[in-house]
Amino acid sequence: MTTGEFDLIARIRARAGTRGDVVLGIGDDAALLAVPADRQLVVTTDTLNHGVHFPEDASPADIGWKSLAVNLSDLAAMGAQPAWCTLSLSLPQSDPAWIDGFLDGFLALAGRHGIALVGGDTTRGPLSISVTAMGLVEAGRALRRDGARVGDDVWVTGTPGDAAAALALLDTQPTHALRARLDRPMPRIEAGHALAGIAHAAVDVSDGLLADLGHICTRSGVGAQVELAQLPASEALQGAVDAEARVAFQATGGDDYELCFTAPGTARERIAALADALDLRFTRIGRIVAGEGVQAIAAHGATWQPPRHGYDHFSTP
Ligand code: ADP
Ligand code: MG
Repeated sequence: MTTGEFDLIARIRARAGTRGDVVLGIGDDAALLAVPADRQLVVTTDTLNHGVHFPEDASPADIGWKSLAVNLSDLAAMGAQPAWCTLSLSLPQSDPAWIDGFLDGFLALAGRHGIALVGGDTTRGPLSISVTAMGLVEAGRALRRDGARVGDDVWVTGTPGDAAAALALLDTQPTHALRARLDRPMPRIEAGHALAGIAHAAVDVSDGLLADLGHICTRSGVGAQVELAQLPASEALQGAVDAEARVAFQATGGDDYELCFTAPGTARERIAALADALDLRFTRIGRIVAGEGVQAIAAHGATWQPPRHGYDHFSTP
């Protein structure tokens, strides 16, 4: 490790927040964290690589935000409350200005959710950011993928499809609203935590709504039907592409980090109240059925097949 890299760690350490349950944070060989006896520790890791997981022109702050957001989204999908994280950085050069910008985004999101950066690793190499996030959940109350039951409603938060549309339209300058959905995803932490105890199963939408719902179905041993006409669309998406492309983005677009979950019909009122309390859209998009796989049903009742090759057919309305 070079002096430059020690300087970088010192910069990170100076700005990382802490919390009461961090016995020992950045600076020793490892962190010491106090896990309450009645909680389970929820651990997840995601890596963002240069040229794959963020646009070429993404700012360091956006990269910082997103590298934590994708991990917080996994905690949200488990119903966990964020507690601690570590940050493994591979950087082509020791660039203090880049680190400062990165930390602006990373720590802004960390501060919102009260998660403390307690350690990490800093090496030289192609730009790659790996975050491990740790959260806490009341023992036995985590939201899992394997709890869906036949007859459950299928729900989604927010408006899926925006991030994928922004990515597809990068060259033609997507609107600020659309671009923000790609660069600054909002992990649905409060929703996930509130849904623990209401929802039967949950997943976060990183690979596309139908694909991620498919993970719930596989793990739960059930099938699902989704009514495409029920999928919520943001104004930004409606203004950006035609109806055919919109449905494709909503149903198959990744990178939104919304929550897809199943819940019994008896939970509808509680979920409506939650939507009000959180000022977040919750939309009932289908149901869990016996069998396997996800069937997407178009407005005219026919089964819809996702387009196989990208979305070269979107057009401005
Ligand atoms: P070691 O060689 O014992 O693994 P390092 O020199 O790699 O220790 O790191 C020193 C301290 O700085 C450790 O507490 C480590 O967790 C922390 N650290 C290193 N890189 C980062 C980083 N990118 N973000 C946060 N903490 C870091
Ligand atoms: Mg050591």
